[in-house]
Amino acid sequence: MTEKIYYHDPYMRTCSAQVLEIQHQDGRWNIVCDRTLFYPGGGGQPADRGTIDGKAAEVKMQDGKVVHALEEKPSFSIGDHVQMELDWEHRYDFMQQHTGQHVISGVMHHEHGIGTVSVHLGDDYTAVETDQAEISDEVLFQTVTSSQRIICSNLPVTQQMMHDHDRHVALLRREPQVTGTIRVVGLGDYDMAACGGVHLAAAGEVLLVSCIGTEKIRGRIRTKWKIGNRALRDVREKEQIVQQAGTLLSSPAQQITSAVMKLQEDMKQLQYDLQLQQKRTARFMIDRIMSTGVCENGVSIAAGSVELDTIDIMKHMAGEMPQEGKHLFCCLGLLEHEVRWIIHATVPVPFDEIRRDLFPLIEAKGGGRAPLWQGVGMRPEGAQDFLIQLHQRARGWSKDHEKE
Ligand SMILES: [Zn+2]
Repeated sequence: MTEKIYYHDPYMRTCSAQVLEIQHQDGRWNIVCDRTLFYPGGGGQPADRGTIDGKAAEVKMQDGKVVHALEEKPSFSIGDHVQMELDWEHRYDFMQQHTGQHVISGVMHHEHGIGTVSVHLGDDYTAVETDQAEISDEVLFQTVTSSQRIICSNLPVTQQMMHDHDRHVALLRREPQVTGTIRVVGLGDYDMAACGGVHLAAAGEVLLVSCIGTEKIRGRIRTKWKIGNRALRDVREKEQIVQQAGTLLSSPAQQITSAVMKLQEDMKQLQYDLQLQQKRTARFMIDRIMSTGVCENGVSIAAGSVELDTIDIMKHMAGEMPQEGKHLFCCLGLLEHEVRWIIHATVPVPFDEIRRDLFPLIEAKGGGRAPLWQGVGMRPEGAQDFLIQLHQRARGWSKDHEKE
């Protein structure tokens, strides 16, 4: 039976232990000792990290034993004494997360009747899934305030073993999920809960809890928390963000929101103005190409090209085409390595013929339906040929229209 030091002395960081078992399994060496510092994980808290005789060990619970898995073949044998060393920063972080979670869940339960359904202590934040479909901002704010009161009062964290028929079990915040002998963790006389995790000695070491958001999961509110040193770092990071944002906006912290709203309004107006300008440019380009057109059999045939800085002009061109009169209009917008093409026709056009005979000239793709076809071509150097051929063929088509 392994002595679980992490329960009775969670602040011990190094110790000597005697090796009881060594098993080679799946390419790793599983070590069992007479005592261990390493919490094997459970109850939402991850397993500890650390080393045995300087070699990294992965710790897990297997067949009721705390097993330390080593990647390399150990240099020690059964009966030898080894040195265990805990990754203290990792452990202490999760002691803060776990104890802080007890404080938060306790406050939610005792002050607001909110139950905790599940807990996840992640590397980034701690999540407390509640049994509520909605929780107001006010309740969350009160939960933070009351949690800080408990932290400041430095309530001792106690632990005791109870049997599930003990009358005190009725006082637990949550019904225990195991039967028989249970481990009960208390915050002074404020809160009691069955728990198998590793905790701080007193609530004061939690330092700070900060709710960083909520989300709805399975119809219930899941609250997200920064706790302990993580919360302090989070506050510091956010202070820096506020400071930088204030400098960028030339605005005191309290006015950052209104400064950003003003920027958004300005941006909207600029976008509106830009669109208006692009529409005007598109109309101007259409008029210019139209003015070069020739009239054949009552149909105005106009085809030309324009140099483009942005494809937005072509997008607007489609919306700005005149709908009256008989015309066949084609514009090729020349960009550095591609061509944007648009054909607008208020008379019938054999588009299949264009696709078959003219598309290869500019390696074109795209399509549409009367009166508008558009797309892109990958060969700008073929633009002139494309326009000449389109012009010639359009004369033929216009004769056909007259016959009809
Ligand atoms: Zn716990």
